[in-house]
Amino acid sequence: MSIHASRPELLVVPAEEMIGKTVHDILPPDATDVVMLALREANETGRSYGRQIKLQVPQGTLWFEFSIARKSVLAGEQPCFVVLSHDITERKKTTEWLRKSLEEIEDLYNHAACGYHSLDKDGTIRRINDTELAWLGYTRDEVIGKMKWPDLLTSASQKIFKKDYPRLMKQGHINNIEVEIIRRDGTIFNGLINASAIYDTSGDYVMNRATVFDITERTRLERETIELRDEMAELQKLHVAAQTAAAFAHELNQPLLAIASYSKAALMLLQAGKPDLDKARLAIEGSERQAHRAGQAIREMLEFLSLKEFSTEAFDLTKETIAAVNVAKLEYELKLHPVFRIINEIPLIQANRTHLQRVLHNLLHNCTEAMREAGVLTPSIIVTMRSIKDENVVQMTIQDNGPGFKKENIQHLFEPFFTTKTRGIGLGLAISRSLIEANGGQLWVDLQEGSGAIFHLTLPIAT
Ligand code: ADP
Repeated sequence: MSIHASRPELLVVPAEEMIGKTVHDILPPDATDVVMLALREANETGRSYGRQIKLQVPQGTLWFEFSIARKSVLAGEQPCFVVLSHDITERKKTTEWLRKSLEEIEDLYNHAACGYHSLDKDGTIRRINDTELAWLGYTRDEVIGKMKWPDLLTSASQKIFKKDYPRLMKQGHINNIEVEIIRRDGTIFNGLINASAIYDTSGDYVMNRATVFDITERTRLERETIELRDEMAELQKLHVAAQTAAAFAHELNQPLLAIASYSKAALMLLQAGKPDLDKARLAIEGSERQAHRAGQAIREMLEFLSLKEFSTEAFDLTKETIAAVNVAKLEYELKLHPVFRIINEIPLIQANRTHLQRVLHNLLHNCTEAMREAGVLTPSIIVTMRSIKDENVVQMTIQDNGPGFKKENIQHLFEPFFTTKTRGIGLGLAISRSLIEANGGQLWVDLQEGSGAIFHLTLPIAT
């Protein structure tokens, strides 16, 4: 027996001591069994390949792989074998490490919080993780190589999938596709799909890999939110309708009652033995005034409820405001002291002139009314104007020296139907704000209590 050892330090028994010994003397029993089996095989077939034995040495566990070939001998001679062995401990360790890593990856793959699957070119399921299988309710055997993934989709989702599939093949990926997936029991869950294409070395599309997220809960919540929003919008409409109807009723009730009383009085006067025609005329005139008032209230409401398409023009805001203040002076027979402060050059503004006149009328009417009711002795209105080039607007401030606003009312001033007046409708400010905003500007009040009301408005500078 001759021995060649590339790493003699690892030999269980030193080489020189092995000469003349049997396998049983050198190797432990389990390794001996493997060697004897290989020898028998080599004796019968001439060779035996790839046998492995494990040896315990002081340095730890070693693995050897050996092959045996039977040497040809002369007739009558003892059979002779050549054994070639090499240390495969490192290879074994690497293989073991790889196996464990794969196991770990497989474990992560199978128990991930999302579904994973790989599909053939024709959609046949080639790989699928436990999570997705559990969602679907099928066993692995039932689906691998047997089911096509698109067949698990509802017909609406199949259409989506068919539309996106060419994109997947071309672009290499599709993201965030929402589909409905049918479980084995026929129930449906919502999935969010992200898929990427796999190509072969010649660049041909061969399969795709995808992740699936169960978004059933999210979809349900989204749907509920939309339904709730629609319901809220419906309720709001009903609320507005109810408010509008109440305001109409409230506003029309008074003039209608007055018309009824005036008419009754006129009738009585005319039916009397000697009719008093002057008084009857006065009663009929009163009735006519009330009818106008009712008509005006209806027009205002309708204007507020339907702000239609309108045209704009470039005009001089200062001129328009001076004209409106003069009308207010005449209309309310006030000893009104208007003051105009022009801070810088005021360019033309771009707006609908009638809308602006309407707003100025509302604001000035409120100011004069508030001052008159409060018994202000020297009523004044200060109009300040400045252009703000950076913001491309002209800003106007209208300030009176009436009672101003009560703190608790300030936040409600622009709400439709908010009024503190016994005969008010509460639409003036709401309409004014809608008109100014429709013209690209803003209307607001100074949030200070008392000491006169201060309104600010902006309108865009004409280009
Ligand atoms: P209305 O004049 O029919 O009440 P508005 O919308 O024009 O409706 O005004 C809403 C409320 O704002 C008024 O009832 C009043 O309380 C308040 N208000 C508006 N302008 C002034 C002002 N210049 N001074 C004091 N209060 C005002």
